[in-house]
Amino acid sequence: MAVNYIYPEYEVIRNPDRCIACRVCERQCANEVHRYDEDLKRMKADETKCVNCQRCVSLCPTRALKIVKTDNTFKESANWSNQTISEIYKQAESGGVLLSSMGTPKAYPVYWDKMLINASQVTNPPIDPLREPMETRTFLGKKPDGIVRDKDGKLKNNLTPQLELSVPIMFSAMSYGSISYNAHESLARAAQELGIYYNTGEGGLHKDFYQYGKNTIVQVASGRFGVHKDYLEAAAAIEIKMGQGAKPGIGGHLPGAKIVGDVSATRMIPEGADAISPAPHHDIYSIEDLRQLVYSLKEATEYKKPVIVKIAAVHNVAAIASGIARSGADIIAIDGFRGGTGAAPTRIRDNVGIPIELALANVDERLRQEGIRNNVSIVVGGSIRSSADVVKAVALGADAVYIGTGALLALGCHLCRSCHAGKCNWGIATQRPELVKRLNPDVGYKRLVNLITAWDHEVKEIMGGMGINSIEALRGNRLMLRGVGLNEKELEMLGIKHAGEAF
Ligand code: SF4
Ligand code: SF4
Repeated sequence: MAVNYIYPEYEVIRNPDRCIACRVCERQCANEVHRYDEDLKRMKADETKCVNCQRCVSLCPTRALKIVKTDNTFKESANWSNQTISEIYKQAESGGVLLSSMGTPKAYPVYWDKMLINASQVTNPPIDPLREPMETRTFLGKKPDGIVRDKDGKLKNNLTPQLELSVPIMFSAMSYGSISYNAHESLARAAQELGIYYNTGEGGLHKDFYQYGKNTIVQVASGRFGVHKDYLEAAAAIEIKMGQGAKPGIGGHLPGAKIVGDVSATRMIPEGADAISPAPHHDIYSIEDLRQLVYSLKEATEYKKPVIVKIAAVHNVAAIASGIARSGADIIAIDGFRGGTGAAPTRIRDNVGIPIELALANVDERLRQEGIRNNVSIVVGGSIRSSADVVKAVALGADAVYIGTGALLALGCHLCRSCHAGKCNWGIATQRPELVKRLNPDVGYKRLVNLITAWDHEVKEIMGGMGINSIEALRGNRLMLRGVGLNEKELEMLGIKHAGEAF
């Protein structure tokens, strides 16, 4: 019906002088955009199927292709954008919930970009990280409030199990099923080489990856997929997933079509069965219930592993974190609303939750005020895009960060935002064998190692510029941050001064 016609979002521009009709683009596109027309003896494109993953552009041997955003548009107004109008047409046609992947593209404030970092000049000399030792090693877990000695004056060390990271960065939860075997292998091997951790997400741990257990965080989510004693014992830490930044308050759904072969075995559910994670854990309706699960998991693993509780950043996040810090958990992970996802209802992703920067500042402040900051470490995720974001997060009070989208970009993701379709042309968010093999784990893991190594160098350079030689001295040091273009309330919530204000 003509009323539902939506002009394709992208146009495929093929330079006829360059195209040699080699058909590489046709073979590489799982969305079937390109095809060779035998009658016309030339390539054609069905732009309605294009998601702008850039696979064809990257592999075209003659650089004959480019994908451009169309300039065709409905008659827009400040209130009714082209996208809003298109979405109404789609829903009027389908009657369904709109689905999206990756983080929200909406232009909400990114507070990382409204904070500037301090540097030393003259009176407090900077440190040259190439000549002097810089410490970015991080320990996550409960810390003692003070030094305790026995009656002979010897230090008593009753430290609960800790996670030791060479840099304050970890790979965030992405399940086997939502991403491919080769993507998981890349993350696991990179975590091992870097001395950090990757996270299974809620899809269980493939039997091949038990060997990376020392660098693995396993998740216990509401669906309990793949959770059993060996799974818990294999890991370095256990994460209870209460919420996710991209879709706070709702569960997850991996369609039965993706529950095939090893994915079904790893999740411990039949092939073809939809993997539906309920919105709540059906045994958790209070902090006391959460405490029971924390201690059940500790009991099951003989109190040898830290337990993380992951929540989405929501309006009352500070009060929730205060409860979690008293629940026996060792680490709180907070996921901001700009965080990525393999699939989420578009309206939830784009409208529910709060920015991670405000959540972090509030949680750190609240736990300090209550004298329980040492009960837990704080890990934040949800759009950490660079080493500068890492430094700002630590200065705002984080002990470490989770990166998800950044890690996938390092693996070759081109942010086409169509992971939910399962046809990732880069071999990441797919289970189709012919696509999975496009991601070579030998290359993928090395690129992840390069990324984190580069960020580590940059973190050290920025710290050196501030005259700080240890990440510990940066943690919660908000004097090192200044706001630009923020109002009084935002500055107050972030606990920082405006640029131009002295100490
Ligand atoms: S890959 Fe490039 S040269 Fe080959 S058919 Fe496609 S557009 Fe033409
Ligand atoms: S993982 Fe693949 S499908 Fe998802 S956004 Fe990246 S390139 Fe697109």
